[in-house]
Amino acid sequence: MNLILFGPPAAGKGTQAKRLTAERGFVQLSTGDMLRAARKSGSELGTKVAAIMDSGSLVSDEIVIALIEEALANNKGAPGFIFDGFPRTVAQAEALDAMLAKHGKQIDRVIRLEVDSQQLMARIAKRFAEEGRADDNPEAYKVRLDAYFAQTAPLVPYYEKSGKLKGVDGMADVETVAAAIAKAL
Ligand code: AMP
Repeated sequence: MNLILFGPPAAGKGTQAKRLTAERGFVQLSTGDMLRAARKSGSELGTKVAAIMDSGSLVSDEIVIALIEEALANNKGAPGFIFDGFPRTVAQAEALDAMLAKHGKQIDRVIRLEVDSQQLMARIAKRFAEEGRADDNPEAYKVRLDAYFAQTAPLVPYYEKSGKLKGVDGMADVETVAAAIAKAL
């Protein structure tokens, strides 16, 4: 099974992806994690995306699509993939469908974690205080949320059309959200 965890930044996608990985052996593909790793390694790619990421804007479709393409090729025997933070634009969603088709696979489910803006802001303030991620500062987070509504939210009708989208209340505690995801799968 291949699924997308969908929702605004700080909706809990990473937390739930890690649980599913531990419980079901799925491979988590997080473009945010991949880009942070590239930055940490000091690679050319990492240097190129650093300022864009810190500002809260999206990096180019070309870059993230290439990262996913490579990850799919490197994990051919995986029992399933959890896409976390990808796709974030319609162009990325279309590229993902094409890449999976090349491997004889498809997206089976899109789980949308629903969290209201007030709770998102509270979560991000807490994470910024605890982890100090540059793009969690209030100014950058606003850019990230705006990018979500402008560029990523249009994916809702894209996946609704195929009947794969399921909404889950992401406001509840981690266990309750995990149980709701399990039911939706
Ligand atoms: P995340 O941890 O998923 O919130 O990603 C952190 C940052 O990495 C985002 O604010 C973007 O700058 C960049 N990024 C991650 N995934 C993508 C994506 N699919 N498309 C474009 N930019 C991305």
